[in-house]
Amino acid sequence: MNFGFTPEAEKIRSEVRSFFEKEVTPDLVREITLNTGATGPGIGRKFVQKMGAKGWLCPTWPKEYGGLNYSEVIGFIIRDEMAYAGGPVSLVGATMAGPSILKFATDEMKKQYLPRIARGEIEMILGYTEPQAGSDLASLEIRAEDKGDHFLINGQKMFNTHAHFAEYHWLGAKTDTSVQKHKGISLIIVDMKSPGITVRPMITIAGGKTNEVFYDNVKVPKKNVVGEMNRGFYYIMTALDFERMLPFGGMRRILDELLRYTKETKQDGEPLSKNPIIRQKLAQIAIEIEVTYSLYYQLA
Ligand SMILES: Cc1cc2nc3c(=O)[nH]c(=O)nc-3n(C[C@H](O)[C@H](O)[C@H](O)COP(=O)(O)OP(=O)(O)OC[C@H]3O[C@@H](n4cnc5c(N)ncnc54)[C@H](O)[C@@H]3O)c2cc1C
Repeated sequence: MNFGFTPEAEKIRSEVRSFFEKEVTPDLVREITLNTGATGPGIGRKFVQKMGAKGWLCPTWPKEYGGLNYSEVIGFIIRDEMAYAGGPVSLVGATMAGPSILKFATDEMKKQYLPRIARGEIEMILGYTEPQAGSDLASLEIRAEDKGDHFLINGQKMFNTHAHFAEYHWLGAKTDTSVQKHKGISLIIVDMKSPGITVRPMITIAGGKTNEVFYDNVKVPKKNVVGEMNRGFYYIMTALDFERMLPFGGMRRILDELLRYTKETKQDGEPLSKNPIIRQKLAQIAIEIEVTYSLYYQLA
């Protein structure tokens, strides 16, 4: 049995690795760190546009929407090499909202958003969490009232990570209060420039930036609903499944750096890498990383 990758996958891995070694600069890594894993508005945007030009931002999507029709395994390899190099791990449009649009939205909505996401021109923000709705997401309260051809949206989100620079909110909002909680939620794409939206920064204990987002009588066209009305909770669950494929290469990078450090650093004249306790700890980390990769490939 062959557990290796196809020659095509290996060729792509080596191409993207050389690209990321050159393009992931210390300035880009700084911007990504400040933006809690996202690209950020400056050099990050230019970086994703270079990836988009090669088709590597959304490589598994059909060509008509800016992809390359690659397999999920190859898509994961590209993102994982990017994460190993220190590139962005959190690309909401390309890896969470976009794949959900591809699965659930109308052709019109696909044409409106997917090619721009795949070119790196627009980014989205996950608009799920609220002060009283985290793990229990179905308890969200932000209200989208039906006003005929549009919704009037009022309420608050928090921990919405890219809201200080991204163009669109991928918003979970209550559209029916007369049914069970999870059956009255719709997923709506909102232009962040809409009047009535206020974004306020929240800085995490680790120094990363996320945000609170306030809606005060925000008018949003009803055609911005993704898929069917009141099916939003189910679409969010699918988008969360896509999110579980966030790349893992950063952990592999840390292990490689630890290995190098233990080989170069001596204690009592011996490299740390000869110490049996340290060797055992490193082996345990390596095993856990390997097991995680097996899970990821199975998921892909
Ligand atoms: C840096 C950062 C970025 C984020 N970015 C985004 C974003 O972009 N968009 C977005 O929408 N959200 C975002 N989040 C929010 C994140 O998804 C929520 O923090 C998460 O959903 C958990 O919600 P909570 O913080 O309210 O914790 P809670 O739901 O209050 O949970 C607190 C603790 O209680 C435990 N717990 C909860 N319910 C139960 C139960 N029934 N039984 C046993 N234990 C339970 C949990 O496991 C946890 O340990 C971000 C969070 C952080 C920290």
